[in-house]
Amino acid sequence: MSADTSLMPIPGPIDPVPVPRRLTLRADGRVELVGLSKDQIRHELEAAGLEPKQAKLRAKQVWHWTYNRGAIDFAQMSDIAKPQRGWFAERFVISRPDVVEAQVSSDGTRKWLLKTHDGHDFEMVFIPDADRGTLCVSSQVGCTLNCRFCHTGTMQLVRNLEPAEIVGQVMLARDALGEWPSQPEGRMLTNIVMMGMGEPLYNFDNVRDALKIVMDGDGLGLSRRRITLSTSGVVPMMARAGEEIGVNLAVSLHAVTKEIRDEIVPLNRKYGIEQLLEACAAYPGANNARRITFEYVMLKGKNDSDEHARELVRLIRKYRLPAKVNLIPFNPWAGAPYECSDEERIRAFSNIIFEAGISAPIRTPRGRDIDAACGQLKTAAERKRRTRQAA
Ligand code: SAH
Ligand code: SF4
Repeated sequence: MSADTSLMPIPGPIDPVPVPRRLTLRADGRVELVGLSKDQIRHELEAAGLEPKQAKLRAKQVWHWTYNRGAIDFAQMSDIAKPQRGWFAERFVISRPDVVEAQVSSDGTRKWLLKTHDGHDFEMVFIPDADRGTLCVSSQVGCTLNCRFCHTGTMQLVRNLEPAEIVGQVMLARDALGEWPSQPEGRMLTNIVMMGMGEPLYNFDNVRDALKIVMDGDGLGLSRRRITLSTSGVVPMMARAGEEIGVNLAVSLHAVTKEIRDEIVPLNRKYGIEQLLEACAAYPGANNARRITFEYVMLKGKNDSDEHARELVRLIRKYRLPAKVNLIPFNPWAGAPYECSDEERIRAFSNIIFEAGISAPIRTPRGRDIDAACGQLKTAAERKRRTRQAA
């Protein structure tokens, strides 16, 4: 089993919320196999009574059926003797998060509202493009960090997602896209971004364990070069992320002065911009071929002036960062204290960065007709539920 993250202090200006430990047992006492490594599966099989040699062989087969073939039923596992398949089914399950609601936008973006087995809603989004398909995966139910422009930040952290629930999102997307068995070529789901609900570096162990399975060649088989972890700036965990996970790094910078970043990303009061950029400069594996992405949400009259753009260029140069900048038009939500910058302003901002030789594409908003921005589907569904209950 993975290390006990409940003992890990959650740094930040907001008091830590108690984080319940992983649930390995289902209500019926069976053990969930999704989210377990091959060694962990072997261990569980031995604990259930298989001889070590048997356990090793069966773990290999079960692993392959689960992660490569997408099996959810032991009856499918044709290279395991029939009576033994029954033995497995009595003790283990291979499941997915429950789907509360699945929506498809007119632009092809798909969004799922999912539910954990203990009843918490969280989200996942799939964004198809001409040359790739990106799955946006959640790491927590809610978030402790309260960024002021982010709808998830208005929710309290309910709990960390388990490895099963993180890997389960990718597997569910493969189910929906009909992409089993895992194959290296011609698939729609090509990229993963840890940019759904939650701060992945506050759920480090579970995110790491889940991504290891996603990256395993005989598992889900996605290259670490096609996976991006986005952090709001949990500086003490960044080096470990590079060393132990090794995926691409995105940093939610959003502002270039202490005053403004303190306001919109309150974690900045704990880990300031300089400290954050130093951690970026030291990020293992960052180079010109693998740049760090700086995310910058465009908030009207707040962080979007020419001076801000020039300061951003200065900082990137000062810390010699192999960087690209993603300019994200703010996606408004009811009660949000900001508006999105005008198109012209965003373009001017982008040009200043671009003219300094740094790529600064403007992200096209996707799936607006289905509330496909962080935290919004969950709220829309809760509103509907409340309306239904009131009626
Ligand atoms: N907690 C991590 C990852 C999840 S948030 C982080 O903050 O990096 C992923 C991205 O969604 C962040 O870059 C955030 O800026 C963006 N985001 C959140 N709310 C948004 C909104 N209302 N409009 C546009 N982007 C938003
Ligand atoms: Fe949490 Fe990221 Fe939203 Fe900030 S932007 S509240 S860190 S999910």
